[in-house]
Amino acid sequence: MAKFRKIGVLSSGGDAPGMNAAIRSVTRKALQSGIEVMGIRGGYEGLLNGDLVKLDTHAVSQIITHGGTVLYSSRSPRFKTPEGMNLALKTCEDNEIDAIVAIGGDGTFRGATDLTNHGIPSIGIPGTIDNDITATEYTIGFDTAMNTVLGMIDALRETCESHNRCNVIEVMGRDCGMIALYSGISTGALAIAIPEIPFDEKYAIEKLIAARMQGKRGLIAVTSEGMKPVEGGKNYSEYFVEQIESISGIETRFARCGHIIRGGAPTIRDRVMATEMGYEAVNELLAGKSNEVICYIDGKIKPVDINYALILDRMYKNKLVDGDLDKFTADDIAKMRETCSHRSAMIRHMYQMAMDISF
Ligand code: ADP
Repeated sequence: MAKFRKIGVLSSGGDAPGMNAAIRSVTRKALQSGIEVMGIRGGYEGLLNGDLVKLDTHAVSQIITHGGTVLYSSRSPRFKTPEGMNLALKTCEDNEIDAIVAIGGDGTFRGATDLTNHGIPSIGIPGTIDNDITATEYTIGFDTAMNTVLGMIDALRETCESHNRCNVIEVMGRDCGMIALYSGISTGALAIAIPEIPFDEKYAIEKLIAARMQGKRGLIAVTSEGMKPVEGGKNYSEYFVEQIESISGIETRFARCGHIIRGGAPTIRDRVMATEMGYEAVNELLAGKSNEVICYIDGKIKPVDINYALILDRMYKNKLVDGDLDKFTADDIAKMRETCSHRSAMIRHMYQMAMDISF
């Protein structure tokens, strides 16, 4: 069993509800294992500046109920530079931090790998509302964000129903359509536009018209912010609103569920998942493991090597560059391909199902 005296925990990149539950779990599990915990404030930037706070068991009391992150978050371009890394290592040395748990997305995991390579064993926990990390079927914050979107779309649908209107709602997710897909399904949207599936705009508008002709009043279309802009750089969702109005004549409004869906009290799913992932992260460190991201696969919490996770992600997003696969065995590569096709098939299936029963 690895011997650590003190570990650091940080949250980095975009915040997500449930990050606090992960911080609490990491802290309590470490303390219970005889390890001190330092909270690093403002992501990697706090590591550069030595912005640390000692976390005892009371410091993490009651935070499980709150969205955001009590350790704050930031983007830290400085951390990616050699000077930044030196400052980070100095902070670890000065404060006797032996290992780090970093909660965030793929950028955060790259930082964790860099730290591990420089002698600070690090473990990542996936915290992002986007659910866009291919290695894991779930990322902390996704469920809460979707429930927030759900409330907003349900409310919009009521007013659309009253006024015989259509509403296009664009939701966050960067280049990943998961939030749009799931919230579209759960609000009974007639059209869903996500970057992963070619969007048949003509068919979508025909469906809106057909629904209206059969007396449906409240019409909902959900679009992902990741949809490619149209020619001239116009945002796709706004363009889609214009297309619906000009082709169908149906009065159509636009709403964007932006950063508001990043906040709010975490749901049970996010609290429990974050607790499990935080607990497992410390267990892995105790077992002498590092450079892993704690994933959720096939109903189980499973650690996955960060390098594997990052390359898998690039494979899924068609962003592999020469040499990316060189360090992996044929078995690894076959497993990566299988994960990618499994994820694509799942999205296609969910999308098809949503379209089949939307009207
Ligand atoms: P997320 O973790 O949500 O993907 P970012 O991509 O902004 O968010 O990454 C969060 C932080 O992780 C960055 O501000 C930076 O400090 C660190 N980071 C990102 N990419 C790298 C990298 N290639 N090498 C080292 N650190 C990185």
